[in-house]
Amino acid sequence: MVKDQIEARGIHDPRLLEAFRKVPRHLFVEEALQNQAYEDYPLPIGDGQTISQPYMVALMIDALQLTGKEKILEIGTGSGYQTALLAELGEEIYSIERIPSLAHRAITILNRMGYYNVTVKIGDGTFGWPEKAPFDAIIVSAGAPDIPEILKGQLAEGGRLVIPVGNSSVQNLFRVTRTPEGFKTENLGACTFVKLIGRYGWRNHA
Ligand code: SAH
Repeated sequence: MVKDQIEARGIHDPRLLEAFRKVPRHLFVEEALQNQAYEDYPLPIGDGQTISQPYMVALMIDALQLTGKEKILEIGTGSGYQTALLAELGEEIYSIERIPSLAHRAITILNRMGYYNVTVKIGDGTFGWPEKAPFDAIIVSAGAPDIPEILKGQLAEGGRLVIPVGNSSVQNLFRVTRTPEGFKTENLGACTFVKLIGRYGWRNHA
C-alpha cells in the first residue's frame, strides 16, 4: 500500500511513510472487510460513512506539513484510522465526530493501541474546538459547502487548514494557511468525501 499507492504517487515525507507502515489499517475496518483494508479505495464503516482511500489520507496529512510538535484538530473521526496517523505525526490531537457509535468505536481502538495524546469528543465539529484553539493544523475529513470562517479563526499563526469544499458529489481539496499578511488559499485538486453535516457545513442530512 505505502509503496504502490502513496510513494509512487509522489509523497516522500519519511516520517509520514513510516507512520503509514506502522498503523495497522485493517484494525479500523469491520472484520468482513479486513481482507480489503489495504486496497486502493475507500470502505464503508457503518452509518453511511466511509474510511477514506489510503492515498487521500496521505495527501491530506502531507498537506499539513507536520513536524511532530503540532496541536491538531481533526473533524470527522470516523474509524479513527487517520486519527492514529495524526497521533504518530503530531503532539496533541483533538478529534470531533458527530455520530456517537463511530466515536465510541474509534475511542476504544485508539485507547487499546495506546494513543494517549488523542482526545475524541462527540459533537458538531463545524464549530471547531474554541477551548483548545489555536491549532497548528486543522484537518476536515468530510466535504463542506464552503470554508467555515470559524475554523480559519482557530488557526495559529502559520497554521494550516485542509478541507474538501464543493457540492455533494465532487469537491476540491483546499489548504488555507494563516500568514502574517492574512490567509493564503491553495487548491490541491479534486476529491470526493461524505458530507460535513452541521451548523457551518451542510444543514440537511440528505
Ligand atoms: N478520517 C475518517 C473519515 C470518516 S468519513 C476515516 O478515515 O475513517 C467522515 C466522518 O465525518 C464521518 O464519520 C462523519 O460522521 C463525520 N462528520 C460529518 N460531519 C461532521 C461534523 N459536523 N462534525 C464531526 N464529524 C462529522
